[in-house]
Amino acid sequence: MEVKRPRVGDNSRAASLPGLAWLDLKGQTRLGTQNLVSGSRVYGERIVFLSGREYRIWDPYRSKLAAGILKGLKIVPFEEGTAVLYLGVSTGTTASHISDMIGKTGVLFGVEMAPRVGREFIENVAVKRNNVVPIIADARRPELYTAVFRNVDVTYCDIAQPHQTRIAMGNCERFLKKNGYLMLVVKARSIDSVKAPKMVFREEAKKLDAGGFNIIQKVELEPYDRDHALILAKYHPN
Ligand code: SAM
Repeated sequence: MEVKRPRVGDNSRAASLPGLAWLDLKGQTRLGTQNLVSGSRVYGERIVFLSGREYRIWDPYRSKLAAGILKGLKIVPFEEGTAVLYLGVSTGTTASHISDMIGKTGVLFGVEMAPRVGREFIENVAVKRNNVVPIIADARRPELYTAVFRNVDVTYCDIAQPHQTRIAMGNCERFLKKNGYLMLVVKARSIDSVKAPKMVFREEAKKLDAGGFNIIQKVELEPYDRDHALILAKYHPN
């Protein structure tokens, strides 16, 4: 899905985009997704009704994907029916908005290693959303995800680990379709606490390039997240 930029004051835009929406709230443009589970909140977010539809406001300070969209991400590859492998779902803030966008016919396999966090994800998100499959596992061992029953269109990785680019690529090799998308959140300080963040972003992008990915866009997430970038790449394995 290509991201259409909002015209402030244009409420009809919300009605024309079924998944992602730009909402005009008292003159302020906010990002939102149409709620898949009516009346249900995931992290205390605000719910608004517009043109007979229910939207959850998407907070860019709580979700790096929302920050990336607001910082100019050109493609958001989630629409009705998309299959997603999400590494590092945590309690499910971002995953829940992706679940809204992929709708009832999509599926999100959500991998989380920490058992307590994973339990919260199951209780708050997976139990209420039929398109979410929780996987309590280590993303370094994708061969153990017995619940992933199909290849995916998008791999989203946000595990804040030093070797996360390699880990993401290993998961893509196993599960990502040819021409599928990888969205990689890079936290520069988890990879190298001394190097300039821009240099770290460049080096991680180079690793992807050498591993069969075409870099489409690199978006830095300031002011929402310091020293973070979101890299969007397309998978072209040999
Ligand atoms: N993506 C989440 C969001 O936007 O709502 C936030 C993710 S948080 C920065 C990183 C998460 O990755 C943590 O919950 C952590 O437990 C998880 N994690 C770290 N290493 C992991 C691994 N090897 N396998 C699976 N999960 C991992």
